[in-house]
Amino acid sequence: MICDNLDRIRDAIAEAAHRSGRDPDSIELVAVSKRMESAKIRQAAACGQAVFGENYLQEARAKIESLPSSLRWHFIGHLQSNKSREAVRLFDLIETVDRMKLARALDRFAGQLAAQQDVLVQVNVGREPQKSGVLPEDAEELLRGMAELKHLRVLGLMTMPPRTSDPEESRPWFRELRQLACRFADMGLFADNDQPRLSMGMSGDFAVAIEEGATMVRVGTAIFGRRP
Ligand SMILES: *Cc1c(COP(=O)(O)O)cnc(C)c1O
Repeated sequence: MICDNLDRIRDAIAEAAHRSGRDPDSIELVAVSKRMESAKIRQAAACGQAVFGENYLQEARAKIESLPSSLRWHFIGHLQSNKSREAVRLFDLIETVDRMKLARALDRFAGQLAAQQDVLVQVNVGREPQKSGVLPEDAEELLRGMAELKHLRVLGLMTMPPRTSDPEESRPWFRELRQLACRFADMGLFADNDQPRLSMGMSGDFAVAIEEGATMVRVGTAIFGRRP
């Protein structure tokens, strides 16, 4: 079941990539496993899925420590600065940095581990008051501040646009994120300005996100089914 879903999603990713003249291998599928038990993650891993996304630190810790160390983990939830040490210890990529206080805390703990922490900056493109993410107009200042932090590698941007049932309604938000990333790459604000990463698109709209330039799509329900 999970394998069938993964196959179908990989096909859909490849189709969307081809439609937009992109290499399917340039798009990373992040399997969002929040609230899913470890057994399901093992099933997905057995079908070749290596990258997983988690939203809650405590839940993620239990899973990460009990699953094979070959799996890679992205943090995609809201992160409090006082949980930074744990987040740096557990995650390969933290996708939701949206303020300088958090960036500084992550930088400090990465430094203590003599490591470099890969991060994305989360942008609240829809300017929704209840959502995390830096506002588009404040993102440049945040990125300039983060460029000074030696133990963070800012790879690109992430967004979660306003919820909708029509994937086409997400398209303008995805496009806005890509345009922001292009502008910031021109300013040299990312670790690799030739290939800024764009994490956008979920179960309902990942194909549209790929057409608009996503390099990572975060898919939960379409892989694992409804969350309990
Ligand atoms: C839950 C979640 C997803 C996955 O959503 P689905 O609709 O289940 O694919 C993606 N990104 C973030 C940030 C999430 O919290």
